[in-house]
Amino acid sequence: MLDGIFKDTMANMKWTDIQNYVDKNAIVLLPLGVIEEHGPQLCLGTDIYTSHIYCLSIKEKLEEKGHTVVIAPPFYWGVCQSTGGFIGSFNIRKETARALISDILVSLCEFGFNNIFGVNAHGDIDHNIAIMEAFREVHEQKHINVCYTFDESRFSNFGLGLNEPYLCPIKPQRINVSKAEVSDVHGGDIETAMIYEFYPTLVDVEKAKSLPAIALDESNGDAWLWGGHIKELSSQGYLGSPADFEHVEVQKNVDDYAYRISEAILRRIV
Ligand SMILES: [Zn+2]
Repeated sequence: MLDGIFKDTMANMKWTDIQNYVDKNAIVLLPLGVIEEHGPQLCLGTDIYTSHIYCLSIKEKLEEKGHTVVIAPPFYWGVCQSTGGFIGSFNIRKETARALISDILVSLCEFGFNNIFGVNAHGDIDHNIAIMEAFREVHEQKHINVCYTFDESRFSNFGLGLNEPYLCPIKPQRINVSKAEVSDVHGGDIETAMIYEFYPTLVDVEKAKSLPAIALDESNGDAWLWGGHIKELSSQGYLGSPADFEHVEVQKNVDDYAYRISEAILRRIV
C-alpha cells in the first residue's frame, strides 16, 4: 500500500535535495495523468496514481543500472477527451495542458537537469498531442534531452516517425496479465486491480464485482477515441470487465511496464 502520489517525488523534498540531484546529473521522471471518471467502482485519480506507481518502479530499474533518478511532482491536469462531459472528468483545454507541461519542463531545465522523461498513463488522443507538443517545444527551445515515452505501436497513428528527438518509443506489451474476456479499455479489470493493489480503500469492491462486462466493437471504437460518446457506449463510464479485477497479475504488469519504459529511456539518455 502506498501513501499518495507525492511519495518519493520532489514535492516531498527540500530545494537543497533537488540541488544534490542536479549536481549528480540525475535523470528526471515526470508522471503524467488526468483526473477523470473511471466507472462507479474506481477513483478519479486512477491514471495519475498508475503513472506514479510506474515511475517508482522505473526509478528502481534505472538505479540498478547505476543511474541517479528523481521523480518530479506528478502532473494531473491533462485533457479528458474520451470521457468528456461525464461528471468527474475535468475538461482541461489542450492549449492549457500544453502550456502548463511546457512551463514545468522549462523549470526543470532551468534547475539544471539534462535528461527529463515523461511517463503517462492516459491514452486520450488530444492529451497525448498536448504532451508531445510541449516536449517538442521545450526540446527545440532549450536544446536539452526532454523526451516523452510513448507506445511504439501508436506512432504511425499520430503521423510520427520513430526517430523524433523529443519522443522515446516504448516496445509493445507481449505478456498477458488479465483473465477477462473483455479487454480493459477504461476502468476495466486491470485499472481496477492496479488501484486495489496499491490503494485498496479507493476501490468499491462490492460495486466492482457487480458490474457486467462492457465491450467495444469495431464500429464504436472510433467513437470512443474521438470522445463525447462515453454515456452512449457505457452509461456507467467504464469499458471492460471490472468484476475480473481479482485475477489480474498486478505486480507482473507493473514490472513489465516499468521494464519496457526503463529500456526505452536507457536508449535515449545523453
Ligand atoms: Zn485510466
